[in-house]
Amino acid sequence: MECILLGSGGMMPMPYRLLTSLAVRFNGRIYLFDCGEGTQLGLKKTKIGVRGLGVLAVSHLHADHCLGIPGIMMLRSQILDPDPLTILGPPGIQKFIRQSHDNLGFFLNFPITFIEWSSELGEVAYEDDQIRILWHPVEHSRFCLGYRLEELDRPGKFKPHLATALGVPKGSLWGKLQQGQSVTLEDGSEVEPKQVLGESRRGRHVAYVVDTRPAKAIYRLCHEADIAFMEGMFLPEDGDHADAKGHLTVVDAARIAHRAGVRRAVLVHISPRYNHDQLALLAEAAQSRFAGAEMGEDFKVYEVPLPNDD
Ligand SMILES: [Zn+2]
Ligand SMILES: [Zn+2]
Repeated sequence: MECILLGSGGMMPMPYRLLTSLAVRFNGRIYLFDCGEGTQLGLKKTKIGVRGLGVLAVSHLHADHCLGIPGIMMLRSQILDPDPLTILGPPGIQKFIRQSHDNLGFFLNFPITFIEWSSELGEVAYEDDQIRILWHPVEHSRFCLGYRLEELDRPGKFKPHLATALGVPKGSLWGKLQQGQSVTLEDGSEVEPKQVLGESRRGRHVAYVVDTRPAKAIYRLCHEADIAFMEGMFLPEDGDHADAKGHLTVVDAARIAHRAGVRRAVLVHISPRYNHDQLALLAEAAQSRFAGAEMGEDFKVYEVPLPNDD
């Protein structure tokens, strides 16, 4: 599993910093978080493209998080027979995309399933055969969602001595058991995976939380995440401004990440008021609270390691 940061800026794309968007790539599938103006450029620059894109999760309806969607739809419609797309987002995301499509009249050749947040839906927004995506409202100047992508639990460790004791010959039958399938031995007896596997193991967890004041929901979203992409928009001396506009400073983000038990915090949605040379100041302020914090870098690939039990 790898996370590719397509941009690390907030408010507006800059020549040296694109708007914040995160692509999580896992077994060839792409899960994209936010899509502001210019996200297309990030997808091209990193050569991710749009064929593998199956899920787009939008945090909120501010231009710097959603204005790139019509362009992505158009780009994806250039592909012959693309897969269906699922779009998660706040109430109103469907109307925004439908109206953009109606007004611009562009060609669209794939079905879209919209899942809009509502209090009745619970915390799991989406699930497929390899991951689930959780969501929680955070506290911004308008309704905004934070996300958490969790790899489904992986099968427990295979115990060869147990398989041998049960008379399972080494070879393809071991492989089947490791993949969670039951096998039948030559004498007709059946062996189930649970007889030869340890406890199931936790998968990798990635948090994506931007555009929020400090809020309880962030702890829930980031709890013990292997990597968390969190807003770190301002230096602490600009904290009043951050609070008034519903944003986090780098110190807020680092403090929350540390308390939530995050392993690695990548701070994004950086204000355009800070140029490239000032990133070291932001990083220094963040690291004074949490050594595992760093400033995000456009187009950087962040490998997500398996939890320690491996
Ligand atoms: Zn924003
Ligand atoms: Zn916003």
